[in-house]
Amino acid sequence: MIPYGRQDINQADIDAVIEVLRSDFLTQGPTVPAFEKAVANHCGATYAIAVNSATSALHIACLALGVREGDTVWTTPITFVASANCALYCGAKVDFVDIDPRTYNMSISCLEKKLANAKRTGNLPKVVIPVHLCGQPCDMQSIHKLSQQYGFKIIEDASHAIGARYRGEPVGNCKYSDITVFSFHPVKIITAGEGGMVLTNDVQLAKHMQFLRSHGITSDAEDMCDRPPEEIWNYQQIDLGFNYRMTDIHAALGLSQMQRLDEFVIARQRIAQRYDELLMNMPVVRPWQHEDSYSSFHLYVIRLKSSECIRTHREVYEALRAAGILVNLHYIPVYRQPYYEAMGFEPGYCPEAEQYYAEAISLPMYPGLSDEKHCFIVRVLNEALGQ
Ligand SMILES: *Cc1c(COP(=O)(O)O)cnc(C)c1O
Repeated sequence: MIPYGRQDINQADIDAVIEVLRSDFLTQGPTVPAFEKAVANHCGATYAIAVNSATSALHIACLALGVREGDTVWTTPITFVASANCALYCGAKVDFVDIDPRTYNMSISCLEKKLANAKRTGNLPKVVIPVHLCGQPCDMQSIHKLSQQYGFKIIEDASHAIGARYRGEPVGNCKYSDITVFSFHPVKIITAGEGGMVLTNDVQLAKHMQFLRSHGITSDAEDMCDRPPEEIWNYQQIDLGFNYRMTDIHAALGLSQMQRLDEFVIARQRIAQRYDELLMNMPVVRPWQHEDSYSSFHLYVIRLKSSECIRTHREVYEALRAAGILVNLHYIPVYRQPYYEAMGFEPGYCPEAEQYYAEAISLPMYPGLSDEKHCFIVRVLNEALGQ
């Protein structure tokens, strides 16, 4: 079996986790802040707050930006459901902006049109969540410019994109957004087992998200509400938060993996390059890369050229799976999920996303993918395409 993605764990990672297990703190010890600092430094962001998943990270990011009932959040339909669910957790509505047919990221022209329309009807979004699909950064400069024109906030869902660069600078620096979110699920670029992180340069947002991570509790006297001195103890609940904390065990793995982040991304870039070469003469569209982007290549997505392909999308997918190559479809448009259809979304809502959905297949992509497996995948794909 060849999975579409998998973690790469070495002895140093294992040792780091064991060290925490032998220490005084399994959670809320020194390792979580050390991991946060390492990620913030790498990205050039001022604040980083680790949580137990990117899903939790998206939730507290929305809450910190004030998303609530009556608000609308926009994202792309070609993403994992968590990018949209976070708005629903806050009681807000979700809407989808169609994708760019080359990058498969949120289309800037569709966003512009939708915003102009929404302004006329008084339905502007409170927050827009662009997703750096496959690790290729979105056109953040344009999205940022639109945010100033129309007054919305931006959360970058960079679950695929730690280690990627946009216009020469690391994704996560929040230069064009309010908050950036990373995921450390094992299929992502680096892993903490499970885990996520929010990054921001805004001290108020950082504080708020810190409270929300742990029950809305503060132990900082400065942030406590006024009470007579004899009623001030070592903590106070000042907001309704959650237990979204990361453990030191997870953080130790994440921190150890951070040291190989650049190495992982280089390995992924190399695998992408080799795929590019090997697939050159097949009836597939290879991942197009914008010149502003240095992708972390979380995924390597091909699209079948339906006009030149004698096999259907489903046939190619099944043939690869039958050969033990666990290809995947990233993603079914979120609004096509039954839960979203029940809210009134209809098939065909975003035409470019539908076209992508009819043609896309994610080939296995992870640093440990051997040459031998690589060639096997390409050979099976060639047969599956009926070449
Ligand atoms: C993986 C992923 C998430 C959720 O990450 P978890 O850490 O598993 O909660 C959110 N958005 C995107 C785009 C993802 O790929």
